[in-house]
Amino acid sequence: MIDFKNVTKVYKPDITAMDKVSLHIDKGEFVFVLGPSGAGKSTFLKLMLREETATSGDVIVNGYNLSKIKQREIPYMRRTLGVVFQDFRLIPTMTVYENIAFAMRVTNIGEKDIKKRVPYILSLVGLSSKAKKFPTQLSGGEQQRVALARALVHSPRLVIADEPTGNIDPELSVEIMELLKAINSVGTTVVVVTHEHELAYKYAKRIIEIKDGRVVNDTAGKAVHAR
Ligand code: ADP
Repeated sequence: MIDFKNVTKVYKPDITAMDKVSLHIDKGEFVFVLGPSGAGKSTFLKLMLREETATSGDVIVNGYNLSKIKQREIPYMRRTLGVVFQDFRLIPTMTVYENIAFAMRVTNIGEKDIKKRVPYILSLVGLSSKAKKFPTQLSGGEQQRVALARALVHSPRLVIADEPTGNIDPELSVEIMELLKAINSVGTTVVVVTHEHELAYKYAKRIIEIKDGRVVNDTAGKAVHAR
């Protein structure tokens, strides 16, 4: 599912943001990647999305070796995963329905399928009644659920959430975590990237802690205790 093999990322001129990281995340796991600011979380995310390439080592995501992938294969690789960005990245001039339909249209999915799938996806995240609203008419938590709905349009095997509680109230973070748990319970791999210790220890089955570009702790196979 996700394999980092001895991955190093050096930004020019000489900032090592990731230093010989090896890790494996299996299908169906629910993993938190936890680290303070500057630890390398964004770098980890960008390497997985192939927005950056590793300086050395291999990054393999859903069967694609991102160190070797051809440019024309990248859109296909990206369709195997769904990302919920911290700032949601919704299109302000489009309604909730259109934001999700648009994500399907750009990948050449037919109108008939879109008409069937968008209402279904909206019902999954409990937003059926908000289909005609614009993003600015929604609460932060609702906007985030639209972002999650959009991440689910291609039935991805892997969902990645970047700081899911960063831009919403604490009560709403429970809601989004419960949704991620539900998505995981049907077999989707979920990776949450965050700096929030408490959140990680509350929800995680597995926590990979990174610091200064290295994995400093991985609870894989161990019990996770709140600290
Ligand atoms: P985090 O997301 O955990 O805050 P980042 O992955 O953004 O960490 O950053 C890790 C390190 O790499 C930091 O020292 C940061 O300053 C540096 N860094 C990140 N992106 C770049 C870049 N494009 N150019 C140079 N240095 C970068």
